[in-house]
Amino acid sequence: MAAQDHEEAPGEGRLVPDGFDDDHGAFLTVERLAGADDGPLGGSTVAVKDNISTAGVRTTCGSAMLADYVPPYDATVVEQLQEAGATVVGKTNMDEFGMGTTTETSAFGPTDNPAAPGRVPGGSSGGSAAAVAAGQADYALGSDTGGSIRCPAAFCGVVGIKPTYGLVSRYGLVAYANSLEQIGPLAPDVEGAAELLDVIAGPDERDATTRHDIREDLAEEYDGEHPATTATYADAADGDVDGLSVGVVTDLVEGADDVVVERFESALDDLRAAGATVHEVSLPSVETAVQAYYVIAMSEASSNLARFDGVRYGRSGGHEGDWNETFARAREQGFGEEVKRRILLGTYALSAGYHDKYYEQAQDARAWVKQDFDEAFADADVLASPTMPAPPFELGESLSDPLQMYLADANTVPVNLANLPAISVPAGETDRGPVGLQLVGPAFGEETIIRAGSALE
Ligand code: GLN
Repeated sequence: MAAQDHEEAPGEGRLVPDGFDDDHGAFLTVERLAGADDGPLGGSTVAVKDNISTAGVRTTCGSAMLADYVPPYDATVVEQLQEAGATVVGKTNMDEFGMGTTTETSAFGPTDNPAAPGRVPGGSSGGSAAAVAAGQADYALGSDTGGSIRCPAAFCGVVGIKPTYGLVSRYGLVAYANSLEQIGPLAPDVEGAAELLDVIAGPDERDATTRHDIREDLAEEYDGEHPATTATYADAADGDVDGLSVGVVTDLVEGADDVVVERFESALDDLRAAGATVHEVSLPSVETAVQAYYVIAMSEASSNLARFDGVRYGRSGGHEGDWNETFARAREQGFGEEVKRRILLGTYALSAGYHDKYYEQAQDARAWVKQDFDEAFADADVLASPTMPAPPFELGESLSDPLQMYLADANTVPVNLANLPAISVPAGETDRGPVGLQLVGPAFGEETIIRAGSALE
């Protein structure tokens, strides 16, 4: 699987000008898109993950399939950045279509971790986190389907926020598993990430999942108002956790490396010292989360990626043979091993006869995870765990064993299954690189996790 199996050598196919300083290989395409003259992000620079559409600038999703794809329109978040005065500085490397935890499944070769050279930056938004960690951009946008903002934030020693499902528009985000994913910010500190969230959060008429006026599940609770209309996330980064109740999810601490647990415990001490109370909670359902996540994510991927057939989207399969042969050739040549594996497994899970056995069971597990979180929030304002169970892996280390890679997502995927918000903040260094602490909030509780996260800085 991964970069080695693609026809091109690692690093080939990148559009990075000679002399541009990108030692870590964070970027796939370097191109500046200037924003408005002023605004809340005036004068700042933002790197954008390469699955977020930019009009006139190619958007590859880290895939050979889309190596030459130039979208005709901007994602809503890109419009919002530019209106806020930010300059987009380029498109960042990522696992192909977001499928991975290390950025090594990119067809354009890997990205090195600026905070731990020789190790992976995490994934799938590894290029975005690396660009922030290396100071190549003030901020970055990533997308998080099962941890892809939080994992690279943790591994690169920066801050990342996965917003509540429906807080940020997905219009222009190339879908991997649409019921799970959100675009979100990466920044050197909590306040910076919150400032970026202020700019991108809000309803979008082009994404119905952000429409609190028409979403029956939300309209009544929020009085038809979108939560971002009244929230100011940057103001919440005030470090005030006096009286905050923190639930430690024991199920997500037990599986972590000793060095990770040590850093985690000492961060909890800092929260206690700042006036928070800490208690243990158990979420028995998280034991099923990785299996459920991968069945759902692969099922959705098998459907979402059907459009890449060389006719509607993607590199052409040529003119030899009939339509089936052309179509098969486009997908055979355009997709890497990990993407093919997931399309095959997802198609299988959805097929007649197996649908009940896999997809429906996964949906049941998803409902159980949601319910478990709801119950935990009856006694806790935020829930804490290590973001990742281990420090960053060495480059190349996890490529041969996809199952091992999937298990590394144990602490992040439950949050996506439950559509909740979560932040990863730096929790210290190990001899293998940085470690992150994850704080999960109730739906649309971004201000609370930002406040709690800022107390750890
Ligand atoms: N590592 C997870 C996966 O491969 C999450 C990826 C993501 O959030 N895009 O599905």
